[in-house]
Amino acid sequence: MIDAFQYSLPTEIVFGFGKLDELPALLESYGVQRCVLVCDRFFAKKGAELLESTAQICAVFDDVEPNPQLSGVEETVRLMKEQNADAVLALGGGSAMDTAKFAAACAKSDRSPAEHFDGAPFGEKGAKIFAVPTTAGTGAEVTGVSVISRGGEKKTTHHPSFYPDVAIVDPALTLTVPPFVTMITGLDAFTHAIEAFWSVRHSAVTDLFATEALRVILASLEDAFRTGSKEARTAMAYGSLLAGLAFSAAKTAGCHACSYPLSMYHHLPHGEACAFTLDSFIRMNADDRLENLAKTLGFESCGALANKIARLKELGGLRARFSQCEGELDLDRLAQESEAHMLMRNNPKQFSKGELRAMFEKLL
Ligand code: NAD
Repeated sequence: MIDAFQYSLPTEIVFGFGKLDELPALLESYGVQRCVLVCDRFFAKKGAELLESTAQICAVFDDVEPNPQLSGVEETVRLMKEQNADAVLALGGGSAMDTAKFAAACAKSDRSPAEHFDGAPFGEKGAKIFAVPTTAGTGAEVTGVSVISRGGEKKTTHHPSFYPDVAIVDPALTLTVPPFVTMITGLDAFTHAIEAFWSVRHSAVTDLFATEALRVILASLEDAFRTGSKEARTAMAYGSLLAGLAFSAAKTAGCHACSYPLSMYHHLPHGEACAFTLDSFIRMNADDRLENLAKTLGFESCGALANKIARLKELGGLRARFSQCEGELDLDRLAQESEAHMLMRNNPKQFSKGELRAMFEKLL
């Protein structure tokens, strides 16, 4: 029997190779008059071209950093107020999208972005959000989440106004992603999908998105890494989007809970930090439901699926042991902060601090 569920998504999704060409028409159909574009340095030239060619784009902030800082949000809000902007367009990975989402929520607020970062409630959405992902990884184009850092303090904020109004998923934009970033962002998407599947908040509809995301990603990630072909990139963009649709409702769990201290103390990029414990959690979370999923995906067991993840990490050159990482190792602190993270409550099995410490000890 199907358990009761609720699923909503306020985002219009436009998917397809070359679909960024429809941007001016989309901005027009949403009544946008003045839009600020947000990107990182890699897309600075493309941002300048869009400023030149798109009537509604009035200014560009092109200095988003990976693990985006609050200062980038502040600069975007300053530009939006100066320009009297009614929309923000993010062109980039999760870092650009999260900056734009947080800025849109602050754009018409009397409070500063720092006050909102510290917990001041958001009021009415200050601007429309157009999200254009350029990595196949975060799914941030369809989530009501923004992850922003102030110095070393990385904070996840959830708010309904963070959902983009429009997601333009154009796989052509991912053709330039270097192989290492292809692998870590691809494994981030895989982690979203499997964590949505095993989350205690999963439902029939998120299972559907998650299972198909896992199938598509397993079939295309290695090819996207090795050849970067148009077909593999398109499949990965689709798989990442499906994973986003799954975890936007079901949320993530243990791997993401551990990723926060791993990024903070060992400076791993987000996708690599999630992948660091991914194969461990597949083994530790294994139960009848997960064994069935592994079989559906063409593996003999959860162990075989975990081995596949370990091989992909090795192929991509990801760090898989603490001996390969920078930063001072403190297993007690890692176990304590991972166990205390709110996302750990979504994990299908509740592990004690001691059990998480034992998991980390196997990764020395
Ligand atoms: P990113 O946006 O930080 O980009 C990583 C690197 O890839 C950057 O150097 C960027 O310039 C480069 N890059 C991006 N697209 C490129 C392209 N097409 N060609 C060449 N280089 C390109 O990476 P990300 O993994 O997409 O995002 C990570 C961030 O997203 C983290 O801060 C993470 O916490 C957050 N996140 C947010 C959500 C959400 O729902 N809001 C979900 C997962 C992760």
